[in-house]
Amino acid sequence: MGKLLVRLLLGLIFALFGTFNYCSNVSQNPITDEQQRVALSPEQEVALGRQGRQEVVQQLGGLYPSPQLQTYIDQVGQQVVQQSEAAQSPYPFEFHLLDSPDTVNALALPGGQIFITTGLLREMDSEAQLAGVLGHEVGHVVARHGSEHLARRQLGAMLVNAIGIAASDSAQSAQQAAAIAQAVNQLVNLRYGREDELESDRLGLQFMTEADYDPQGLVELMQILESAQSGGNPPEFLSTHPSPDNRIARIEEDIRETYPNGVPPELTEGEQRFSQIVAPEL
Ligand SMILES: [Zn+2]
Repeated sequence: MGKLLVRLLLGLIFALFGTFNYCSNVSQNPITDEQQRVALSPEQEVALGRQGRQEVVQQLGGLYPSPQLQTYIDQVGQQVVQQSEAAQSPYPFEFHLLDSPDTVNALALPGGQIFITTGLLREMDSEAQLAGVLGHEVGHVVARHGSEHLARRQLGAMLVNAIGIAASDSAQSAQQAAAIAQAVNQLVNLRYGREDELESDRLGLQFMTEADYDPQGLVELMQILESAQSGGNPPEFLSTHPSPDNRIARIEEDIRETYPNGVPPELTEGEQRFSQIVAPEL
């Protein structure tokens, strides 16, 4: 057989395998109780996230050069995860601050790598708002929205191979690196659907309040994002249908359901701590 024919056949086998994988990989998510189609196992999601981290950092301005702020972002994120149901997920979460002052955004890779830009941090003035944005991104990870997206794009099978080989062998081939870069590109520019955003709002609210943060922080975050939205490239949160007003109304409804007797006054807003730590470093 000629080389071209072999390659064509291999391509066909991979495509079939991908389709088969997509159709056969239905799993139950223990946190959201949903049936979902994902080609990657949680371990593979973690490997993809770790390998994609550098790609995101490079694309979005690099890590912000303040160890204090990096630690603070990670501490708030870890509190949201450790004190909530998100702790039961299999993902080792890491939270990073990107040196991107002109971009108001936050995003998550599968497996627990979460990023927020200095452009967004600059707009905020309380720890509860920060907990809200991180909780929302944690929601995307535990609900496996990114992996579902990759499965729909039939990238799953290809990635399983690339990650599997890359994880066991430090010498990554150009092809494997390309597959991972392609997946990360998809994820960085990903616009989640309406249902995914609403689900992450709901999960974010749950996680932040379980971690004793004032849920009003999430409402304020939506207002901040709404006013920061300026034409061109809307932040990840606002990229899809539910208009901020609509989402704020739903979040407020959720808050009323969670706290029928009103939001307990002892929940943390953390304005002072936030400004003491963030202001000198930003
Ligand atoms: Zn989102």
